[in-house]
Amino acid sequence: MKILVLNAGSSSCKYKLFNMDDHSVLCQGLVERIGDPTTGCLTHKIAPDTAKEEKISLEEPFKDHAVALNKVIELLTDAKKGVIKDTKEISVIGHRVLHGGYYQTQPALVDEACKKTIRDAFPLGPLHNPPNYTGIEVAEKLFPGVPNVAVFDTAFGMQMPEEAYTYALPKDLCKELQIRRYGFHGTSHTYLTHRGAAFMHKPLEEFNCITLHLGNGSSLGCVKNGKCIDTSMGLTPLEGVVMGTRCGSIDPAIVPYIMDQKGLSAKEVDTIMNKKSGLLGLCGQTDLRDMHRLADQENNADAILARKILIRSFKKQLGSFFFLLEGHVDCLIFSAGIGENDAKVRAGVVAGLESVGICLDKAKNETRSGDERDISTADSRVKVLVIPTNEELQIALTAQDVLAKSKKA
Ligand code: ADP
Repeated sequence: MKILVLNAGSSSCKYKLFNMDDHSVLCQGLVERIGDPTTGCLTHKIAPDTAKEEKISLEEPFKDHAVALNKVIELLTDAKKGVIKDTKEISVIGHRVLHGGYYQTQPALVDEACKKTIRDAFPLGPLHNPPNYTGIEVAEKLFPGVPNVAVFDTAFGMQMPEEAYTYALPKDLCKELQIRRYGFHGTSHTYLTHRGAAFMHKPLEEFNCITLHLGNGSSLGCVKNGKCIDTSMGLTPLEGVVMGTRCGSIDPAIVPYIMDQKGLSAKEVDTIMNKKSGLLGLCGQTDLRDMHRLADQENNADAILARKILIRSFKKQLGSFFFLLEGHVDCLIFSAGIGENDAKVRAGVVAGLESVGICLDKAKNETRSGDERDISTADSRVKVLVIPTNEELQIALTAQDVLAKSKKA
């Protein structure tokens, strides 16, 4: 079975075609600058990350997503370099959709009701849901007869109990405006949970873990018996830990204070919190590697402080989830750009936690690898794993599952 995964952004579109027999990637690519009348760029890789990898780069304008996707289809079905003969070979298309809104708890086969759900959630995901929706509509036209599945990034967080997702604000106001903790990076947390349970040889329903998706945007998930019981991001991806350019959780009263003192609009303060804060605001860098360089080689005080604040923020969130699980934690799972690569941050986050059963193996932590691995000591009660995330594969697996269930129904 072949499954295409699409992630349509406002001016870009990522795609990956999986052979589900062995989960191998037949091809993948990225179209950028969609909508720019002067230029656009498409990078297409056949058999990526294998000895047979072949790369094709094109530079031409892509007026809209339909033009871009048409070009992708040409490449997929090209007589010489194509990986399929006909788009009908694709069993289902899985779409990444940011927000499922207040009511959508599960991934869904795309029909009129599902499309309405995505449209209704435009105000909750104003940057992502509209282009995600466009991607679905274009796919429906260009891949006739191929079913589409919407995989919502909020679905993981929709498993949370009421006491986890409810904010202590006036009840009616929250209901009216659909304010609740939604949580994001859900597809990644889901993937990590499943892989973590498999790694630990535990049935999903008995598996407890804390997932640390630490990248440019970062969030932690708290999983009990295979289900999300809490997550650090909230109504938007701004809440939670300190990130590359986002401040994470702050005293909410800071917002009206800045607005009053500086005469700024809500939108302007929102931009400060989302785009100019976090590591960037603290030390002028968004990339952790640059922050480490400044801290370690130049002894830069801002970078040294930024690193302390970042690690402390991850640790505080980890601690609160550890308590929510009452210490019954099978493993911590580090993932994404920082979690998979940054041994210093991992060591900092779990430093001194031996008394609660979390013991890092220094040498294992510092060994670089792209594999799923255990970096804790043999006698660590709580295992510490590094699992490279794979959101596209999770979308493909979910789409496969939704399709199978729809056929049974
Ligand atoms: P996102 O998908 O949220 O944009 P990523 O998951 O790619 O972000 O993570 C980006 C972060 O990961 C950056 O802060 C970067 O410094 C860090 N990172 C990526 N590769 C490495 C590496 N080899 N060593 C240390 N940090 C890394």
